[in-house]
Amino acid sequence: MQTKKMWFKLAGVIADNLPTASQECPECGQAQIDFQYVGERNTMRGFLCIWCVSCLHGIHISGVRIPEHADCLQKNQVETVKKRIPNFKVG
Ligand SMILES: [Zn+2]
Repeated sequence: MQTKKMWFKLAGVIADNLPTASQECPECGQAQIDFQYVGERNTMRGFLCIWCVSCLHGIHISGVRIPEHADCLQKNQVETVKKRIPNFKVG
């Protein structure tokens, strides 16, 4: 499977029930996936970043619905968002 497709598949898994502990990175195969939703709580829309802590590859998906149970950072808290999400390589 294409790496990009695998990242999107991972996004689907996260949107459903947020498990990442056993998910493997499409790039390096390590089970070191982390993710963060960022958006606005009143509209529950925003973007989702998924990355691998081990190799720092990942994906950024905009225009997603933020699940009720997800931990979501506010878009305007730029410093908090910057601290939380590493500068990963997309694709
Ligand atoms: Zn990786």
